[in-house]
Amino acid sequence: MEDAYGHRIAYLRVSITDRCNERCRYCMPEELQEWLPREDILSYEEILRVIRVGTGLGIRKVRITGGEPLTRRNVLDFFRAVNTIDGIEDIGVSTNGTLLASEPEETGITMAQHLVNAGVRTANVSLDTLDPEIYRQTTGRDYFDRVLQGLDAAKAAGFESIKLNAVLMRDSNEDQLVAMIRFAHERGLLLRFIELMPVSTTDVLKDERFLATGSAKKLIESEFGSLTPRPEYKTNGPASYYEVPGMDGQLIGFIGAMTNLHFCENCNKLRLTCDGKLRPCLGSYLEFDMKEVLRHPDVTDNDIAAFFQHVVDRKPKEHDFRNDYTPNRKMIAIGG
Ligand code: SAM
Ligand code: SF4
Repeated sequence: MEDAYGHRIAYLRVSITDRCNERCRYCMPEELQEWLPREDILSYEEILRVIRVGTGLGIRKVRITGGEPLTRRNVLDFFRAVNTIDGIEDIGVSTNGTLLASEPEETGITMAQHLVNAGVRTANVSLDTLDPEIYRQTTGRDYFDRVLQGLDAAKAAGFESIKLNAVLMRDSNEDQLVAMIRFAHERGLLLRFIELMPVSTTDVLKDERFLATGSAKKLIESEFGSLTPRPEYKTNGPASYYEVPGMDGQLIGFIGAMTNLHFCENCNKLRLTCDGKLRPCLGSYLEFDMKEVLRHPDVTDNDIAAFFQHVVDRKPKEHDFRNDYTPNRKMIAIGG
């Protein structure tokens, strides 16, 4: 599938739940969280059908996210089923890491190992700080140690790549950036710094909190010296990568949705929300109701394929975050 601007769509980010065991300040809305009713959430069978049809249209990579995807019941069976779909070359998971060291299915095997055994190649783990108290304030939970154990479990499990994702926040983790680079280096992890995006209605998303990737880069360079751009290093996303001098080739990435004007140039992604909306872009109001199509009694795979193309044809050239964007949905219900 190709959109009107020549973006070749090969990547589907799939949220399987809006529920989470944490309460990150930049992700959850201020008002009391209410979960979506169960019947509004796509079943695993429905999601698998969407992915299967997507592969016929060129989808090659899926990343499973949420909410916290590892909290959904029978999630391992779901991953195993994704892995049997012809055409899927790469399966990833985005997680807060708190459950990676848990031992589901009472087998004495960690969740991380089960995921690798189920064919998951890459894990993106969110960790914004190395300070347990700031972690508690940011996520609303005292799970810092669990995440460290989760990272150890992920390392032991043998994912092809583990990325640490840290959301940049002034007055919260700006003094942690250097320590986080050393932490990532010691553990052989790829670290990415992400600009706060207006994807929820929380007071954390105030201008005073915003720390641009350019400012973070300067803070890092004042410790390590000039970072070397590594434009040839590409993962499947919009991060710009740099090598940190004197750190054995350690790479760090910056995801600057707000300040990088080239951010959308190579976008190859669609998102499926847990309640079945197909979104052509995270930072746009556009979303299209795939669930209605899927739940139509006579729906054929061709109908689903036509719907995919309908959405791709409407993919915007770039996101709208810089235009006073007010989210119509919370991040936790879209899937980061
Ligand atoms: N629960 C998983 C996790 O925390 O990684 C997966 C879902 S979470 C919504 C996916 C990513 O979105 C996380 O890395 C999180 O930090 C990021 N995120 C959430 N709200 C954000 C915001 N307002 N700005 C930038 N990134 C955000
Ligand atoms: Fe949960 Fe992830 Fe959102 Fe934090 S960022 S509240 S862990 S979904």
